[in-house]
Amino acid sequence: MDFLRPDTLAEALALKSQRPDAVPIAGGTDVMVELNFDHRRPAALLDLTRVPELREHSTENGVVRIGAGVPYVRIIEELGGALPGLAMASRTVGSPQIRNRGTVGGNLGAASPAGDTHPVLLAAGATVEVASARGVRFIPATEFYLGVKRNALEPDELITAVHVPATRAPQQFSKVGTRNAMVIAVCSFAVALHPGEQRVGAAVGSAAPTPRRATEAEEFLSGELTATDQWESPKPLLDSVKRRFGELVAQAASPIDDVRGSAAYRKHALSVLARRTLGWAWQDYTGKAA
Ligand SMILES: Cc1cc2nc3c(=O)[nH]c(=O)nc-3n(C[C@H](O)[C@H](O)[C@H](O)COP(=O)(O)OP(=O)(O)OC[C@H]3O[C@@H](n4cnc5c(N)ncnc54)[C@H](O)[C@@H]3O)c2cc1C
Repeated sequence: MDFLRPDTLAEALALKSQRPDAVPIAGGTDVMVELNFDHRRPAALLDLTRVPELREHSTENGVVRIGAGVPYVRIIEELGGALPGLAMASRTVGSPQIRNRGTVGGNLGAASPAGDTHPVLLAAGATVEVASARGVRFIPATEFYLGVKRNALEPDELITAVHVPATRAPQQFSKVGTRNAMVIAVCSFAVALHPGEQRVGAAVGSAAPTPRRATEAEEFLSGELTATDQWESPKPLLDSVKRRFGELVAQAASPIDDVRGSAAYRKHALSVLARRTLGWAWQDYTGKAA
């Protein structure tokens, strides 16, 4: 197996264009598991850990650009204020060791339906930046996930960053697992309030072939909040509104029965997660607005 070690992004992109079969490796927390279990035997590995451009983050015009190689621990410590939902999801990933190594670019590269950052990125309205020797493309998160562990990358492309709007508005993420840490989500859910646009973002994970937005739930809740003037003068949400939101979130999912949970359980759990997280986010919003 060839081991390619670029020192710059330009070098990494040139190598990926010469060797589209080379498997990128960032934190290695997915790739090394696949190698260890002999699920994958690539002809070449493209080590991205020396590429400084991938380890930076910056904020411009209210949008945070997170380099693909920024590990979860830094998202939690350095970006928790601007990106509360992503930090919350990052805190639930694996263990301290995994959060030290694992990256948001790796989560996107793996494109597992159960990846914890995906619902948050969808709810927040994120855009994935990808690049090749041919140039740079920006792919809305909604168009990035194509199928189980399949994403919109071309063979010569690398994920360079993800762009997420910074916010002071409440965001929540919650996942169900068989224990409190070190679990792959049985299902997960993220909600993001966008008061400036009078809009709600909502997305499910581990409950369909790809992570996906719950658009009917988003439209229902955004409409309710706008019609009752709640963005300006928030009041406690009616239980009927939270319940309907939960039902619509569950309807957005098309889960399967597997070792981690049944489809019926996932749908039920999602409706509960959606009601709860909305309750927390709205309580936070009501507190901030008061
Ligand atoms: C014990 C354990 C616990 C875990 N717990 C969780 C969890 O709770 N939640 C969760 O979501 N995940 C979990 N994971 C999975 C993994 O940690 C995450 O998916 C992590 O984000 C992967 O990041 P990485 O940098 O280690 O990726 P890598 O393993 O380096 O790469 C992952 C995939 O992305 C590709 N890739 C990496 N960087 C790029 C790039 N810049 N451009 C293009 N492709 C790229 C690789 O080729 C590979 O296909 C766990 C893994 C382990 C081993």
